[in-house]
Amino acid sequence: MIHPKTELRFVNSKIGYGVFATEFIPKGTILYVKDRLEIEITKNRFNKMDQTHKDIVEKFSYMDERGVRIVSWDHAKYINHKCDCNSMSSGYGFEIAIRDIARDEEITDEYGLFNIPDAIEISCGCHNCRQMLLPTDVDQHHMAWDLLVREAIEKLNEVEQPLWNMMDSGTRTDVMGFLSGQSEYKSVIHLKYQGQLNKKHSTIKSKGLSACAA
Ligand SMILES: [Zn+2]
Repeated sequence: MIHPKTELRFVNSKIGYGVFATEFIPKGTILYVKDRLEIEITKNRFNKMDQTHKDIVEKFSYMDERGVRIVSWDHAKYINHKCDCNSMSSGYGFEIAIRDIARDEEITDEYGLFNIPDAIEISCGCHNCRQMLLPTDVDQHHMAWDLLVREAIEKLNEVEQPLWNMMDSGTRTDVMGFLSGQSEYKSVIHLKYQGQLNKKHSTIKSKGLSACAA
């Protein structure tokens, strides 16, 4: 489930749709949680699908640390990637605003944390664009991403959290444990699927800024 102060808007014909803030959203705000309505597609179920459904799932899903593809039931699946994104997945599974997000600003996140099976060509137009998303990005960048995510999580209690109650109790306990100093921070590297990714394409997919999943 995505934060309520967001909506779907058409960006342009190349990018397609994107998700925008309808009000100011401060750094440290949880922007997405994997709630109970999310559609979970196991590897086994995915492998049995026809190509048409596989393509839809690949476009709109992200893969979690268990190798399960998640398709959001709401407009979270339209969040686009940017290398200088304003939202990022945390090791706890939820996404968090890593800086203040202005009203009408597009919400973007880091696809490098979604266990993509293949390289994806990107043209975010952002400063220091990586030009290409690689399955190994998480290995290379997780420490830098952790700095951003950890700093945002440390502000979690200072801002309004409409999604807090949508989170499962185990995750809430983990986060509160970290904030109270009783447990270690959980790195984004925990999002990495350790099994074999279903590599379907030997060539690079071109998605532009990519209109795929949250
Ligand atoms: Zn970029």
